[in-house]
Amino acid sequence: MAILESCEESRRNVTIKEVKCPQCGQPVEVFLREGATTEAAKCEICGYVIPLGTHFE
Ligand SMILES: [Zn+2]
Repeated sequence: MAILESCEESRRNVTIKEVKCPQCGQPVEVFLREGATTEAAKCEICGYVIPLGTHFE
């Protein structure tokens, strides 16, 4: 149960943000925690992958 609880806890701190793809400028949705991506996000337009741990403001 403790593992489940900490999972819920970390999920609460994640925000979804739309950022511009560095390559084509189209909006890409990323999951941020403390300003950094929690998983890699792929641009659906050009296929550019924003890697895990990329910082956005
Ligand atoms: Zn793109």
